[in-house]
Amino acid sequence: MTNFLTDIQSRLDGIKSEGLWKTEREITSPQGGHISVGGRDMINLCANNYLGLANHPALVAAAKTALDEQGFGMASVRFICGTQDLHRQLEERLARFLGQDDTILFAACFDANAAVFEPLLDAQDAIISDALNHASIIDGIRLCKAKRYRYANADMTDLEAQLRAARDDGARHIMIATDGVFSMDGYLAPLDKIRALADKYDALLMVDDCHATGFMGPKGAGTPAHFGIKPDVLTGTLGKAMGGAIGGYIAGPQPVIDLMRQRARPYLFSNALPPAVVAAGIAAIELVENGDALRKQLFENAAYWRAGLADAGFDLLEGEHPIIPVMLYDAEKAQALAARLFELGVYVSGFFFPVVPKGRARIRTQMNAALTRDDLDSALAAFRQAGKDTGVIA
Ligand SMILES: *Cc1c(COP(=O)(O)O)cnc(C)c1O
Repeated sequence: MTNFLTDIQSRLDGIKSEGLWKTEREITSPQGGHISVGGRDMINLCANNYLGLANHPALVAAAKTALDEQGFGMASVRFICGTQDLHRQLEERLARFLGQDDTILFAACFDANAAVFEPLLDAQDAIISDALNHASIIDGIRLCKAKRYRYANADMTDLEAQLRAARDDGARHIMIATDGVFSMDGYLAPLDKIRALADKYDALLMVDDCHATGFMGPKGAGTPAHFGIKPDVLTGTLGKAMGGAIGGYIAGPQPVIDLMRQRARPYLFSNALPPAVVAAGIAAIELVENGDALRKQLFENAAYWRAGLADAGFDLLEGEHPIIPVMLYDAEKAQALAARLFELGVYVSGFFFPVVPKGRARIRTQMNAALTRDDLDSALAAFRQAGKDTGVIA
């Protein structure tokens, strides 16, 4: 035991000495465009709260009503005695919203991705995965016996080569797995091209659309809607734009969802979502479907913010998504800029290894519809000041 803990301690020391240590700040207010941290009011630029729904009165009210009328917890997995009318209502509403036959809820999208591959594919099959896919897709693929192929991020030449290799290796079913939006960069997967290649090689397409559902594409139906394609299997979260609480799902053809209910391990062996979360999820879909004004505000904010940062001389990754990464490359530099911004009343977070490759450290700023023009102007002034103070800009 002593040796074991000594070894762990030396690994912890290593993480610190490489400048890769992550600390957590405690927020004492609800999530929002402004938050309270250590008694100070801060502008928050790092939540996945794209539409500003995390503390929306309609969601809070829906959750309270469900809490009063349907209780706090389910104390059961879904198939024993954990399914309320609300759970099925949310699953049906999500399916309609996403243009799929049916949906199955999970505790989180991490669980949905851990669940989705293993029951659908076996050793005769192949999964072709984008190199930058979310950790939960990688873990889900590890749990599945299908043969694994990997293609360079959004590289269609490589994807086609892997499709050919899987076909040559005699795969029965082939599934391409990709994020709809790559969350560290804000890049969209070219789903129109991926769909065309999938069709050409008779492969299935699985898309994890966590960073898009609610605001990308017409009516916020996500990256597939943005590109006008339909994936065969779609996973997503209620924990980002759709209210930001907790909950994940798989949407797809009826037989896929039916098999998930019979065989998906994180579904069969884990508790049902609480009624308050489910009811707020239903209310979130209503807001999102009628949310053109929120989406307009979000993308106006994103364009203004991107232009302001570029004008100040920051090195940005290009894109159309409200994730706008400020590249620092060096982890300690990213931490220093984030720390200075914190002193100036702007909450951002440095991202570095292992969440991005070494030498690709950044501050990932994220826009949301709850930020006002005044907020953005104050935050831009803080970025200019902090950028100069840390030597990031001239
Ligand atoms: C956030 C995220 C997840 C995890 O979703 P949770 O519901 O928080 O577990 C999975 N995939 C992607 C691409 C994500 O961005």
